[in-house]
Amino acid sequence: MGGDMSSKLSSKLPDGVRDAALTKRPRPTWASRCSTDGNGVPEGHSLHRLARDQQELVGQPAQAISPQGRFTTGAAELDGRCLHSVEAYGKHLRHHYEGGRNLHVHLGMQGKWLRLRPAGPARPQVRLRLGAAATVAWDLIAPTRCEMLDDLQWAELVGRLGPDPLRPDADRDEVWRNIQSYGGPVGAALLDQSVVAGIGNVLRAETLFLAGIHPARPAAGLTSSEFDRWWDVARRVMQRAVEDGRILTADLDDDTRAKVAENEARMVYRQDLCRSCGAAVDASVIGGRDAFACPNCQPAARAGVS
Ligand SMILES: [Zn+2]
Repeated sequence: MGGDMSSKLSSKLPDGVRDAALTKRPRPTWASRCSTDGNGVPEGHSLHRLARDQQELVGQPAQAISPQGRFTTGAAELDGRCLHSVEAYGKHLRHHYEGGRNLHVHLGMQGKWLRLRPAGPARPQVRLRLGAAATVAWDLIAPTRCEMLDDLQWAELVGRLGPDPLRPDADRDEVWRNIQSYGGPVGAALLDQSVVAGIGNVLRAETLFLAGIHPARPAAGLTSSEFDRWWDVARRVMQRAVEDGRILTADLDDDTRAKVAENEARMVYRQDLCRSCGAAVDASVIGGRDAFACPNCQPAARAGVS
């Protein structure tokens, strides 16, 4: 594959993944360019982008090893097994193999996948290396969860999660019911993965801003039209984030979009001033995480919050 193709492919790699073959010192590159939610946890769009890019492994028998030695049994079970599909659900990644076996990965705060082409020798800290051919390897480093599940166990895991707005089968009515019955602020509800899956801190701040909803408002106080607005915004922003590989919510032309720094392309998240109206952004802690809102564009008092 020529250099131009390599560059194009590299630009499409998911958050936390950079093609090590293209850089002499890959470690700082993938560490510093990993788009995360502020506490280091990739949000749902990162996992969907990863699932999309790992489709290159589908339909072939896995070549699996655990250089680190902490997933030796799992790797032995995967090795030689045909990969049927790769999918993301919220912040969880599933590789579905023949025989009803599944690799489940949750990256957590430190985890990342590294795509290497050519594969080359694996680093000793690699928990799992997957390759469909000698030319490409996907190295998994420092995940929170890396385990084998049967189909029932995967179904149980997904059953504990709310709908994922990025999935075509997402049930928006179920999210609406979850929001209506939630006993706390909407900003906390959106981070609760059992309410809706895949939303992290950046998506919470930016989607609530775009929907004009203050994160401190009681979830149960939202009107159905407000929820509909949030749902449509969330899907649009998340789908675009899958394409961009990061969450950019400011209105930008394509050229600027490709180059802009993340903190210059967000409306309220970790901003001093609202990028829309210029008011000072309110910062508070909601759902245990830093929350950001514009008092003009997202009036808290509207629902009785003073
Ligand atoms: Zn504003």
